[in-house]
Amino acid sequence: MSKVLIIGAGGVGSVVAQKCAANPDVFTEILLASRTLSKCDAIAARSKGTKIQTAKVDADQVPELVKLIRSFQPDLVINVALPYQDLTIMDACLETGVSYLDTANYEPKDEAKFEYSWQWAYKERFRERGITAILGCGFDPGVTSIYTAYAAKHHFDEIQYLDIVDCNAGDHGKAFATNFNPEINIREVTQNGRYWENGKWVETRPHEIKKALNYPNIGPKNSYVIYHEELESLVKNFPTLKRARFWMTFGDEYLTHLRVIQNIGMASIEPIMYKGVEIIPLQFLKETLPNPGDLGENYTGETSIGCRIRGLKNGKEQTYYIWNNCSHQAAYDETGMQGVSYTTGVPAMLGAMMYLTGKWKKPGVFNVEEFDPDPFMALIGKHGLPWQEEINGDIEL
Ligand code: NDP
Repeated sequence: MSKVLIIGAGGVGSVVAQKCAANPDVFTEILLASRTLSKCDAIAARSKGTKIQTAKVDADQVPELVKLIRSFQPDLVINVALPYQDLTIMDACLETGVSYLDTANYEPKDEAKFEYSWQWAYKERFRERGITAILGCGFDPGVTSIYTAYAAKHHFDEIQYLDIVDCNAGDHGKAFATNFNPEINIREVTQNGRYWENGKWVETRPHEIKKALNYPNIGPKNSYVIYHEELESLVKNFPTLKRARFWMTFGDEYLTHLRVIQNIGMASIEPIMYKGVEIIPLQFLKETLPNPGDLGENYTGETSIGCRIRGLKNGKEQTYYIWNNCSHQAAYDETGMQGVSYTTGVPAMLGAMMYLTGKWKKPGVFNVEEFDPDPFMALIGKHGLPWQEEINGDIEL
């Protein structure tokens, strides 16, 4: 018997809500709340299993959140709104004594910068209140960090080199679209690259480091080193790492569009005046781009995301590759959402299940790799994201 409040009715929220509803043995009451009530109602209408209640909330407003949490009394709040809302929702959880889970770390609206410091600063207060915050429980961050913890636990005495490889070999048929919230996505991929090496961060120009990597069932794809948030917690939680990088594939068309968008100033978050009204170019651009939640119908191909690790086992060097491939079409057939929303929403539901069944429950604020990976890894395949592994293959890196 457990109650969850899900905040955010976008692509990811839709998958989380449907997956929670489909597991009525754990999720016995579900409330889905977001800025636009009609989006919650549409998701509730297509869900099967536990009936989903809906509500309207502005998650930027702590008093509104507190009122909603007090009236519903959930055991856990799942935050799949935007990273801008992380701290207000954590504040409301602290005030009401309810645990918290999210899929992306806090980012201020007026600065294209994300880091865990803001949320880690809640650790002591969550501990004293006796509640849990589970940070970054999507796919990346999320499953990639759990794969790393699983590898460290079962396959290595010491992990030394980690390369997270994220390939989207899907085709949505649009000239340019982003797979999750365009504002957050464009802020992420246009910033400088950064990776960890020999105890310090090495900064690169955006997309400066490029290599064609082979992805299972897909083949070679140009992959670029970008900075991604899980690197920050992984190098802290696995201090034996000599190097940690994150690679993402981008097509030439996508990069050309991105360059144009930047060159003409549309990626800017500096306010400008337009006919007497202040607008933020990137937010305006978001309104003109396809909605990621609507990309699913004709989306073909698959994603392939995993970890390529090198380290020591019994005094010998060993490599390990663990990955999941997810078909956009299969994700769409099941949930009406494309693969990127699916690969984020399923782990968020399963992380919630881990908390609610007592497997990931301890007071404080934690990144997912700080919990036991085994119960999560035992169930993730059953819920739609099976994993594969290869020991001592050529990891190319
Ligand atoms: P969407 O933009 O599709 O959805 C966001 C939802 O949040 C919208 O329904 C929006 O409401 C709602 N929302 C925004 N602001 C507020 C607010 N102030 N109060 C209440 N609701 C609000 O994004 P996605 O579903 O693609 O992404 C959701 C989250 O998942 C993001 O944080 C993203 O960074 C994260 N993510 C994580 C990944 C991972 O692997 N870890 C991968 C992909 C995404 P409305 O529709 O009314 O505007």
